[in-house]
Amino acid sequence: MESAIRYLVTLKMAGMSKHLEILKRYFMRNEPPWKIAELLGMRRLVVKGIAQYFRELLRARTLPSDDQVRKLLDIVMPYIDCIPSYCIHHDNGLVRCTICGEVVKYAEFRDHLRKHHQDLIEKITKSVMTKVISRLGVKLA
Ligand SMILES: [Zn+2]
Repeated sequence: MESAIRYLVTLKMAGMSKHLEILKRYFMRNEPPWKIAELLGMRRLVVKGIAQYFRELLRARTLPSDDQVRKLLDIVMPYIDCIPSYCIHHDNGLVRCTICGEVVKYAEFRDHLRKHHQDLIEKITKSVMTKVISRLGVKLA
């Protein structure tokens, strides 16, 4: 579960809202991939690929069902929504990192975060994990 949450945290920090929107619509609202693809202006295979990648991150002994993924996202997403994006958009597909001030291509910003701000990614991931585990504990009790 931790790698799946780290993935969501990194997407939000990098301002990759389309990816998060795909996961919300696919798993939480049960919308068909073609509809999501049309709405977000992406290819259907890309939409399915992102959903499948996320499901793989949650693999324990078996792949989780859509329903299991939805239940987890229902708990996790409100915390992800509260995380800020650490970039300011400029022209020409460039963004400025609000942590260190460096200007990089938007397409490379997630890698920039992983390379230079892994400590912050881990800190936020741990914080979300703690909240999710306590919620799961309450639900199971
Ligand atoms: Zn930076």
